[in-house]
Amino acid sequence: MITQACVERDRELHDPPRVHAWGTSPARADALGIFIGGPPDTPDGIGTCSDGWTGKAFPAGTREPVTAFMVSNPIGALTGAALTAGEAFLRLIGLSRPSRAFELSAWSGACGPLGSLPDDPLLPAIPPIDALLIGCGNVMNGWAAAPRALRITGHAHAVDRQSLGEENLGPYSLARRDMIGQPKTLLLARHLEPLITVARHDEELSLFMPRITRWHLPLAPLVINGLDEVEPRHMVQRLWPQVLVDMAAGGTTSQVIIHQPGQGGQCLLRAYEAPDSETGYIHRTEAATGLRRERFLSEFTTPVTAEDVAQAPPEHRARLQAAADSGQLICGYINQASLTETSSGENFAAAAPFVGALAGAQAAAVTVALLAGHHAPGGLRWQYNFLSHRARTVETRCPCTCECQAKS
Ligand SMILES: [Zn+2]
Repeated sequence: MITQACVERDRELHDPPRVHAWGTSPARADALGIFIGGPPDTPDGIGTCSDGWTGKAFPAGTREPVTAFMVSNPIGALTGAALTAGEAFLRLIGLSRPSRAFELSAWSGACGPLGSLPDDPLLPAIPPIDALLIGCGNVMNGWAAAPRALRITGHAHAVDRQSLGEENLGPYSLARRDMIGQPKTLLLARHLEPLITVARHDEELSLFMPRITRWHLPLAPLVINGLDEVEPRHMVQRLWPQVLVDMAAGGTTSQVIIHQPGQGGQCLLRAYEAPDSETGYIHRTEAATGLRRERFLSEFTTPVTAEDVAQAPPEHRARLQAAADSGQLICGYINQASLTETSSGENFAAAAPFVGALAGAQAAAVTVALLAGHHAPGGLRWQYNFLSHRARTVETRCPCTCECQAKS
């Protein structure tokens, strides 16, 4: 089944195909062999498997006995898949890799030599989820793979302003070619439904927030961030949800931060320090829509007017005029502009899919633990680096001057 999924994924991304399934060793000398469940039998092969919460990767010549698939747990399998994809990638770009057999537990976040990690608990019974999912990109794709495989039920709101672009195919583990051009929230909803019902918000985060702060959309007890910028992370943190799980993928590092107010743990305001000048939403929206900032900052529930058209730079006037003619609201106009944006901008740098997939798998393990009632410290930061195979979990604190300390 794994091999089949791998081959199908390759057919989706590559023409001609680059992945070939063999029962035994690869036929071509320059091929990289990946062996699922057993030790590799080619010199540069990579073996992979999972057992319970633990994903494993081991090079040819591994002598330690490997337990594989004794305890079924999809999060361990996702962890093993991400680790192996990372190893394969680093070798294919020509890095010489340490010949080390290792395992990573999604439950504890620990990484060590094969067979060295203590036993994790069995998969608990998982109560229904009630979550707000913010940002439906790379890392959220990684997270969403787990709830479906675990058959978690419940309800979620999903927020993302963009549509799926060609550049997302590959980096996003759930993206398929026939989804290009559709909202990213739809990609997520299609994967999670029907067991989790998903209310989709194809909206700028700045325009979604008032639903909670002004118009009393109940804030879910669990908020999961799949964002790649600092500014929106701070906006979400300032909702002060009961539990905030923040996923990140940068370079070769996966990261998950958990924050629960009132316990002194470090919040995202400190974990991610924003440069003073950062006002990404304002600049981006001005450039994308031609609207004046006072219009979209304070009057975004009013219709686009003839005055908006007159004040806009010439290149935006035709589109604004059409919006004014149809009575479209400012917020609707902005969200539509985001969804139909064709370029990802100069700053776009795709995170590698395996880095996002591992952050997502780890956050999914945290999600399961929290839903099942396990305690997590108020401020916890987990990181794993694919280059060094090093994982670390630290409990972090905020100074008493941080605004989070007034929340309890
Ligand atoms: Zn703080």
